[in-house]
Amino acid sequence: AISKEAEQDVQQQSALSDDQPRKLLTVNQVEREFQVGGTPLRVLKGINMELKERELVMLRGRSGSGKTTLLNSLGGLDTPSSGEIWFNGLPFHSMSDDERTLVRRKHMGFIFQAFALMPLLSAWENVELSLRMAGTGRSEWKERVTHCLELVGLEKRMHHRPFELSGGEQQRVAIAKAIAHKPMLLLADEPTAELDSGMSAQIMAVFQNIIRTEQVTICMTTHDPTILEVADHVYEMVDGKFV
Ligand code: ADP
Repeated sequence: AISKEAEQDVQQQSALSDDQPRKLLTVNQVEREFQVGGTPLRVLKGINMELKERELVMLRGRSGSGKTTLLNSLGGLDTPSSGEIWFNGLPFHSMSDDERTLVRRKHMGFIFQAFALMPLLSAWENVELSLRMAGTGRSEWKERVTHCLELVGLEKRMHHRPFELSGGEQQRVAIAKAIAHKPMLLLADEPTAELDSGMSAQIMAVFQNIIRTEQVTICMTTHDPTILEVADHVYEMVDGKFV
């Protein structure tokens, strides 16, 4: 029952939106501590941030600075030791795992460095699988899969399997897959790390395109200085803090 209420809250908040970008995510004093061999390791040290609708935000910093841990917390894949994360008006930090999973499945999409596609399925089938898993009605699949693959510029490669596609094309399939269920928030961990600079630029162009057309907010980690200029905000992380 609580999950249903949480769900309704998200829907109501969306219905209120007008042309002004609203706050989608607010992070207050988030800390994360891991126990490593009995010794506490503080990985996030008092993080504060805000994401508005239709923003492209980048988390930049050296390996080990805490970017992935923070991104995982925003997506509910990791839980902060203390602090608050509000997603679209909902207290993500104090929800049960089940409630958080429900919100995540419905309203968030994830993209990883290593594409994470099903190797034996075509681009089309990969995107369709994601709609199937999200519980989208079968009658909507064809139109939505076509739309998403067109958005990422793969209309001519729909029936290719991952091994028949370049790295950049595989990442574009992964993006189509991540946005198929119309999430509000897209979280991407080093989405261009495996790609050369031409392909990275293409991925950023795709991100800008889907922000415009799908009204999604994107938060991504990167250590690539050449793509920073397309971000609305860049948060620089050093040793678990923003500087
Ligand atoms: P980045 O993404 O910037 O490379 P991470 O968030 O992956 O940084 O890692 C930050 C620090 O937290 C690293 O020192 C890493 O070893 C540590 N860390 C991450 N996850 C865990 C975990 N599950 N258990 C213990 N230590 C972890």
